Amino acid sequence: MKELTNTTIYACEFCSKWYKRKHHCLHHEAHRCFQNPNNQHKCLEGCKHLQVFNKTEYWVDFAGEHEFTHKDFKCAKYDVEMYTYRLHPNMKVYQFINSIRMPLKCHLYESV
Ligand SMILES: [Zn+2]
Repeated sequence: MKELTNTTIYACEFCSKWYKRKHHCLHHEAHRCFQNPNNQHKCLEGCKHLQVFNKTEYWVDFAGEHEFTHKDFKCAKYDVEMYTYRLHPNMKVYQFINSIRMPLKCHLYESV
């Protein structure tokens, strides 16, 4: 066993999970940590207007054809598609052109 000394360890500001790499820690805080207040979407607390469905995206690039299935969210009240903080690396920016980030507060929230 090796014991490493004099190394830097990064910890999530919200849940204290440890990371050896700074960019992994930053990615976790922004796109994985539900304890981050900026990631606590009001709709996910059980709003009856939230619709969840699977969406498959197709695209072609230099490496060939690709297919990627992810969950998509829609607010039936606002009639708008939404995405959450859990962005997957396979998701492309153009997939969110007609989407909004799921809100953290919503005056139309109604529990089921
Ligand atoms: Zn965390």
